[in-house]
Amino acid sequence: MTQREPGLSTLSVHGGEARVKSDYGLVDPIHCSSAYTFDNTAALIDMLEGTAAERDEYARYSSPNTRTVEKKLAELEGTEDAIVCTTGMSALSLLFLAELKPGDRLVFFDQCYHRTRQFCFEYLRTYGVDCVQVPTGDFEALEEAMNGCTRLLFTELPTNPHLTVIDLERFVQVAKAYDAATCVDATLASPVNHLPARWGVDYIVHSATKYLGGHNDLLAGVLAGSRARLEPVRKLQGIIGAIAAPHTAWLLQRGLKTLPLRVQQQNKSGLAVAAYLNQHKLVKKVYYPGLPNHPSHEQAQKYLTGCGGLISFELKTDREGCARFIDAVRLPRIGPSLGGVESLIEQPAIMSFYKASEADRQRWGIDPALVRLSLGIEDTQDLLSDLDQAFHCI
Ligand SMILES: *Cc1c(COP(=O)(O)O)cnc(C)c1O
Repeated sequence: MTQREPGLSTLSVHGGEARVKSDYGLVDPIHCSSAYTFDNTAALIDMLEGTAAERDEYARYSSPNTRTVEKKLAELEGTEDAIVCTTGMSALSLLFLAELKPGDRLVFFDQCYHRTRQFCFEYLRTYGVDCVQVPTGDFEALEEAMNGCTRLLFTELPTNPHLTVIDLERFVQVAKAYDAATCVDATLASPVNHLPARWGVDYIVHSATKYLGGHNDLLAGVLAGSRARLEPVRKLQGIIGAIAAPHTAWLLQRGLKTLPLRVQQQNKSGLAVAAYLNQHKLVKKVYYPGLPNHPSHEQAQKYLTGCGGLISFELKTDREGCARFIDAVRLPRIGPSLGGVESLIEQPAIMSFYKASEADRQRWGIDPALVRLSLGIEDTQDLLSDLDQAFHCI
């Protein structure tokens, strides 16, 4: 038999890990140490000169746990390197701060995680970075927003919460024509459903709090890319200290081992629940790219191998009727976040956009009766039955 490249499940379990670990343990220990010691001054100089084997100095720069999980993440993404951060937002903020200088332009699509938009407009802009948002998937507007100062193009794939899948090949082409870098927040896809590096994307971001960790018990973020591109970001991370703690990195490493298994179940439930909602008489609209009537269906066929466990849908009712539906659901608990083993449900008009103006909510497509449902790994049939009983309560 010819040697084949290991599959994603094999990489999830073994990727990045030493074959023989500390004290012959099957799994890695948690290294709590904040400082790492040197046998003598020559050993310190060897590390500073880069001639020593990979090692740690101080846990704000790295720990054995962050180094191992970073290798696993890079193998999963198909990139040279990866950085594990305290949160998804710190991964994104570190990238933007390290990559963009006053006068540089950042162009991004308007369907995105609300805090990303806030970071750009309320903070990055005050440092002199020119932040421009264009309608999602509008490539004419994107081309118009490009200029000689454009350094970075950013998009989510799929977007939160409307699950739009943009034409990634075209996105990368536009960036290349202007010598700008590209960044994709692929949190909603996870590496199981989408690998941006295969399409020439320079930076890949994940909120590892979601699918990667997968158990709703940690906060972390990932930035993947080439070693050269990540170097300045890693340097800034070492100064600011937005690095995942050893215990968090260890939990993430453990969570990653079941990533493909979990996401396969979420893909299966996602498709079944979306199809059920799509034919329900009390549902106005379903946002799920696996459905043939979603505007991104064709792009999803090209860029995604599965559509995940997140479904957004609008009910044929008002904000209060929608709240009654959400309150009647039993299995998914009311809460933010997504991608974990426990199902969660929320009404974005209240959860993330309660304090936004009505005009902004309309601009961002946050309907008062929009529901965001994040499916966990419960039995598909139990999730379907639960939704069915809740519809009787609107
Ligand atoms: C949750 C999320 C983030 C932020 O991640 P944190 O780990 O919560 O900081 C960024 N992007 C997307 C698409 C998300 O869903």
